Amino acid sequence: MYFIHGKDREGAILKEAVNEKAVRAMRAFLEAIGVDLEARGMEKTPARVAKMYAYLFNGMNRGTEDIWGETFPTGASGLVAVRHIPFYSMCEHHLVPFFGTVDIVYLPREGRVAGFSKFTQLVERIAHQPQLQERMTAQIAQAIAHDLGAEGVLVKVEALQLCMTMRGDLAPGTRTVTSEATGTFRADRSAYQQAWLTLGGEP
Ligand code: ZN
Repeated sequence: MYFIHGKDREGAILKEAVNEKAVRAMRAFLEAIGVDLEARGMEKTPARVAKMYAYLFNGMNRGTEDIWGETFPTGASGLVAVRHIPFYSMCEHHLVPFFGTVDIVYLPREGRVAGFSKFTQLVERIAHQPQLQERMTAQIAQAIAHDLGAEGVLVKVEALQLCMTMRGDLAPGTRTVTSEATGTFRADRSAYQQAWLTLGGEP
């Protein structure tokens, strides 16, 4: 289950649910690794962590087709890009954050586009699960290709991987970059080049 503290997008007050099983498990985990919750004044930490993770993983098992709402015919034939969408996700191997930005460009089918804000919702939905940067990149591209029927999609993700920099496997500040192309951007070299330039890539 998941639960959200506060208000939803329409401003409705949401009742706070507590996942007791997750709270118990978190308490047991912290005790197992030697944290004395009482001595450190951390009695409420298991409940806070359970709540936080419910939010961070609220994109699980939800699909993406409900995000888009109405799509609009524009009569245009050009590319549409949404750049610098911030995201926060959790590496599925260590449950440590990786975060950065997502750049999206797509070629609409017959000029049909979705609202710009829908792409930020899509990114959040896909980022809010135990993830890998490579898979997240592909899932964003595939969702746009599938849900909007886009002729081509190119997605670029640039991130900081805390699990690697904190353990010293990557020098601090190292950015990891992944990209995924579908449809015409995969098949046609010059279409790919144009999409890449639209995302601010080097020629
Ligand atoms: Zn990791």
